[in-house]
Amino acid sequence: MDDKIEHAKELVAEAIRNYPRIAVACSFGKDSMVVVHIAREVDPDIKIFAVMTQYKPVETYEYLKLMNKKMNLNTTVYMVAESVPEILQDDSIDMVLLPPGEFNRKSAQIEAVSGKKIYISDPDECCRLLKVDPIRAAVSELDAWICGLRNTEGRTRVDYQEVELKGGLFKVNPILTFTEAEIWRYMSAHGIEPHPWYGLGYRSLGCAPCSHPGGEHERDGRWQNTSKCGGECGIHTQNLK
Ligand code: SF4
Repeated sequence: MDDKIEHAKELVAEAIRNYPRIAVACSFGKDSMVVVHIAREVDPDIKIFAVMTQYKPVETYEYLKLMNKKMNLNTTVYMVAESVPEILQDDSIDMVLLPPGEFNRKSAQIEAVSGKKIYISDPDECCRLLKVDPIRAAVSELDAWICGLRNTEGRTRVDYQEVELKGGLFKVNPILTFTEAEIWRYMSAHGIEPHPWYGLGYRSLGCAPCSHPGGEHERDGRWQNTSKCGGECGIHTQNLK
């Protein structure tokens, strides 16, 4: 475990040396909290950004605000929304709002045809509009981003590499080889309190309608009963630049 932490710090330090325009993506799930903590041990001023959606549970917004203050993260939040949701109104959070027109139009069309919410009938399109497009905005001025991906999270993450180049953007995954148990050990050893949903049996957190507790693998609870059960929202599979 100590070796993995040291290796993760070396990866972050090397990435900062190689790519001056770099930031850490934080979903405020357990893996993000560990990679953010490690990155800030290397560089306390490294930029942190998050993408939030209108479908994130209220507990995620509350946890974001709590940890942003506690860890002094200065998080920049990207979100498709007309205005800053009341729950995110906080001076320590820098909000970047993206116009919701396309999402509103598409979701109304899809729901009119299918009779179901967009996240049920077309979760790929929902994720594209609410997650992938905002991430594109977040990384548009970056050379590299640091993520909390891990190989053992589920079938879609087995082949990820510690450093990847996709579409002109480097992605660095410093905790790729950490196990779920090691993540919890790190959190506990460093006094990082977890998002409250882990106490309810969730193993991977996303938007409320698309996250469920339990599962054989960590990501099995994501997008259950849809075409992309246990899959990816697209931010790690598509070119972002
Ligand atoms: S996780 Fe679900 S609700 Fe969130 S953007 Fe994707 S499909 Fe939509």
